[in-house]
Amino acid sequence: MQDVTYRRPATVQEASQLLKDNGPTARVLAGGTDIIVMARERRRDTSMFVDVKAIPELNQLSFSASEGLTVGAAVPCYRIYRDETVSRLYPCLVDSTSLIGGTAIQGRASLGGNLCNSGPAGDSIPSMIVLEGEAHIFGPNGWRTVKVEDFCTAPGRNVLDAGELLVSIKFPAPRPGSGARFLRFIPRNEMDIAVVNSATNLTLDGNTVTHARIAIGAVAPRPLFVPAAGEALVGRPLTDETTAAAATASRDAATPIDDMRGSVRQRKHLSYVLTERTIRDAARRARGEIVSHV
Ligand SMILES: Cc1cc2nc3c(=O)[nH]c(=O)nc-3n(C[C@H](O)[C@H](O)[C@H](O)COP(=O)(O)OP(=O)(O)OC[C@H]3O[C@@H](n4cnc5c(N)ncnc54)[C@H](O)[C@@H]3O)c2cc1C
Repeated sequence: MQDVTYRRPATVQEASQLLKDNGPTARVLAGGTDIIVMARERRRDTSMFVDVKAIPELNQLSFSASEGLTVGAAVPCYRIYRDETVSRLYPCLVDSTSLIGGTAIQGRASLGGNLCNSGPAGDSIPSMIVLEGEAHIFGPNGWRTVKVEDFCTAPGRNVLDAGELLVSIKFPAPRPGSGARFLRFIPRNEMDIAVVNSATNLTLDGNTVTHARIAIGAVAPRPLFVPAAGEALVGRPLTDETTAAAATASRDAATPIDDMRGSVRQRKHLSYVLTERTIRDAARRARGEIVSHV
């Protein structure tokens, strides 16, 4: 472990100032399930932990029909999947948060940490993309907003500038007749990094798709929003053919690498399969059916 100073600011202004004054080795600490491991293994030079868990805005979890859902960047997974409103209106977020790590990890790990860690396989990111999440950021120049699909730029990299921190992620209220689903493939049942993951959010009018967003992860340097996959569905009836066209668009958008977890061929194939399955499950949710989170 490195010699690290610990600070616990009470406001976003104070946190931003600490990050700005202490340079790039001052690191935001949310749940710590990524950053403590990395600092301990010296994969990230760290001189200071700026613990953001005492800042009220980063702990907010609230919903209103007009504002939608606000998830503070440090809210741990368990608070999200145990929340009655989130379970009812955003089951796709429950899919993601209930499979990140195991119970102990979910007690600490946050959506904000998952997004700011900016791993290509981050399991909450495809869900946040398809739910039209917006990252609310505070820094030396004040507030700004970035769509979740534009937040990550490369493995471990994102749009945050010096002195900036993610404060919350906001999601619009779900459209009437919509449903969303997240799935991942791992070679065992839990506690592994996704070989591929995928999320779909679609809105149905009868059997016609009126709105669709599809994202895939672990198949490119950053989690991928795939507009072409949604466009293959919108304005058309949901059939095996249109579902296959959307899944093909996902497979075509994937530019994976070979590594110890999977081959390019397997990842391309899984992009197709998981997109197909998330479309089917999202449609079931849109029709009011219960789809289990596992
Ligand atoms: C055993 C184990 C199992 C895991 N399983 C999974 C899994 O199944 N799926 C998965 O996706 N991940 C998994 N992870 C990784 C990790 O748990 C997640 O990425 C988690 O969501 C990170 O959240 P955190 O609050 O712990 O982030 P932290 O570790 O506190 O922070 C992560 C990074 O983001 C930065 N950061 C955090 N919050 C902010 C902010 N508000 N503003 C600016 N920067 C910020 C930190 O400085 C750091 O660089 C696992 C980790 C472990 C140890």
